[in-house]
Amino acid sequence: MAEARSDDAAALVRIPHREHKRVIIVGGGFAGIAAARALRHADVDVVLIDRRNHHIFQPLLYQVATALLSPAEIAAPIRQLEAKQRNLSVLLAEITNVEVASRTVEASLPGLGVRKIAFDYLVVATGMRPSYFGHDEFARHAPSLKSLSDAETIRAKILGAFELAATTEDEDERARQMTFVLVGGGPTGVELAASLAQMVKVTLRANFRRIDPAQASIILLDAGQRVLPNFAESLSRRVTRRLTKLGVKVLTGVKVETVDAEGVIASGRRVRSATVLWTAGVAASPIPKMLCTKTDRAGRALVDPFLRVGDTRGVFVVGDAASVMQNEHPVPGVAQAAIQEGRYVGRLIAKELKGRKVKRPFRYFDKGNMAVVGKNYAVLERGRLRTSGLLTWLVWAFVHILALPQLQNRLRVQRQWLWSYFTGQRSSRLIPEQPVAAPASDR
Ligand SMILES: Cc1cc2nc3c(=O)[nH]c(=O)nc-3n(C[C@H](O)[C@H](O)[C@H](O)COP(=O)(O)OP(=O)(O)OC[C@H]3O[C@@H](n4cnc5c(N)ncnc54)[C@H](O)[C@@H]3O)c2cc1C
Repeated sequence: MAEARSDDAAALVRIPHREHKRVIIVGGGFAGIAAARALRHADVDVVLIDRRNHHIFQPLLYQVATALLSPAEIAAPIRQLEAKQRNLSVLLAEITNVEVASRTVEASLPGLGVRKIAFDYLVVATGMRPSYFGHDEFARHAPSLKSLSDAETIRAKILGAFELAATTEDEDERARQMTFVLVGGGPTGVELAASLAQMVKVTLRANFRRIDPAQASIILLDAGQRVLPNFAESLSRRVTRRLTKLGVKVLTGVKVETVDAEGVIASGRRVRSATVLWTAGVAASPIPKMLCTKTDRAGRALVDPFLRVGDTRGVFVVGDAASVMQNEHPVPGVAQAAIQEGRYVGRLIAKELKGRKVKRPFRYFDKGNMAVVGKNYAVLERGRLRTSGLLTWLVWAFVHILALPQLQNRLRVQRQWLWSYFTGQRSSRLIPEQPVAAPASDR
């Protein structure tokens, strides 16, 4: 009965009827798209399901949050893949449940409600979401950076703070509006802090008469002993020096205890700030937990060396949602790993469909780790190679342009970067709604 209902749902949403086996891929991020592409020549129906209609190039989200780029420049419609791949259907839906025993997923479809869709193979590529370490109440005052709307919220918050600082008569309130606290010294926190520092010093400086944006205080807090803990210590030190030079105050070994409308309390000290940004933690989406398998502390599915889930035939988890071990170390949650895992599983399924057995387990090839710290400066670590400075920044820019999802994005981002490099201007400085200071009663 459930099977019939499932196929009805599939027909309703125009997924090809089941002449072929069906692979459902949940998530149109780096891993999901790589898996779908790897299946393009396979004799199978591929259904790529995402709750958003666009793929986001997350490494450049911080540039949207700091007005350097506009959202469309770092996103691409997932549906476009249908035009390029004949065996692929794209579905805008949120997966709300997975029933491994009956081999179905429950999809919440716009205008249709929840329907079941059957699968022969399931590839879960649902990525991560922000985690406030059990303090979800912080989210109200400290937005995180994961989606385009997060980036737009942050951008409006930053730009709105300067507008409010320019109009208030109250000196304390002006100082609060011009204090920016970033919680979390990983790559996102570092990149965001450096870009913000550059924006206030270069772009905004000449735009206000009543205030001097360059006097803004930007504080980067981290509970650990250093920023960029996933890089070598020597690079962390270089990055801290660079951030300090840009005017960012880096405070490590500091634990944030409270985030409220007034600002933060960190290691017992109150920091008054109207803009607190959360770049600290991530947790997996709830989907891996529905697969009847073990998960790690962050909720990632523990997969075998073939990225399969336990004993369940034909169910895989890839990308950030998977916890993959290699040489006793976890494969990092980065775009390259997600792409390689997605591609591996796509190829594995294609081979299985041809009746061939895959003997070689997944191996992650580390192409190196990079972080950018404002204009003309990036750090790179690859094996024993550690570099920093202008040349590394040029490599970073080149690699990121090439990695953008479509030619359009590459051309537009390149143009914006060149414009901003030579003029110091940022063209995406929009505040969609009039900024309002949090009422004193809320503080
Ligand atoms: C701000 C930021 C900066 C980053 N910078 C870098 C960097 O510089 N370099 C780097 O290598 N990595 C970077 N990363 C990490 C990198 O983006 C991730 O490792 C990568 O996106 C993981 O790919 P994924 O496909 O596993 O997940 P994602 O790319 O997150 O995609 C998951 C997809 O699943 C969809 N989804 C989730 N749940 C459901 C559901 N229930 N139903 C339907 N769809 C669902 C989501 O809408 C999303 O499209 C950054 C991440 C962030 C957030």
